[in-house]
Amino acid sequence: MIFDAGTGLRLLGAPMRGRPGPTAAQIFLTHFHWDHIQGFPFFAPLYDPRFHLSIVGPEQEELDIRTLFAGQIGPVYFPIPFSAVAAGTSFTHLNEGTWEGDDFEVAAFRMRHPSYTVGYRVRVGGQTVCYLPDNELEGGTFPVGGAEWRADLATFLGGADLLVHDAMYTEEEYAARHGWGHSTFEQAFKLAAECGVRHLLFFHHAPERTDTELRRIVEGFQERSEREGGPSIEAAREGVDIEIRR
Ligand SMILES: [Zn+2]
Ligand SMILES: [Zn+2]
Repeated sequence: MIFDAGTGLRLLGAPMRGRPGPTAAQIFLTHFHWDHIQGFPFFAPLYDPRFHLSIVGPEQEELDIRTLFAGQIGPVYFPIPFSAVAAGTSFTHLNEGTWEGDDFEVAAFRMRHPSYTVGYRVRVGGQTVCYLPDNELEGGTFPVGGAEWRADLATFLGGADLLVHDAMYTEEEYAARHGWGHSTFEQAFKLAAECGVRHLLFFHHAPERTDTELRRIVEGFQERSEREGGPSIEAAREGVDIEIRR
């Protein structure tokens, strides 16, 4: 299972091509903003006929997800045509509800973000992992929101072992960015604590955020969460393996 297709997808795919290992993957997309799809044309298994890629994501108003993908790999945006894709592909819409695999389940929940955006909850091997990369928890105006949405979200996330959540801004930065579709560290922390999440990963870092700033912010929340009996907290970063134990 792969969630979103940002630039990290290139590094994930390079060692998969032409080597033994799994040759089927499900790619679950939250939405189609550039930062979530731009790794897709560079995903080596796409050009390897041994692979089958099942691509799942929310249909946009008048655009099915196959069209969105095919449009991205074409002469205007990319030198290789979509016809060069050698892997088997299938496309399935998931705007809400649950995708059932053989031994796992993936559920989609609509986020507060421009375009039809979802967050995902994965249940596999007795563990629950939630991935909500783009979500404005409190401000702005979106087709979903309010007390009922928030309560449903809390139920959706309830007791998750790991939550990866949008934490793009500090409170000061957010003051000028209501409605941009992203949350603050504070909002993500409160949500995780409220939902009894065990581990929280701050995600979707602001591009201009430095490692030093991020480290200082995370340390502040780690101390606070320890005092308040909240989740363990880290900042998401590339190339990390996370082992979840009960
Ligand atoms: Zn987005
Ligand atoms: Zn994004």
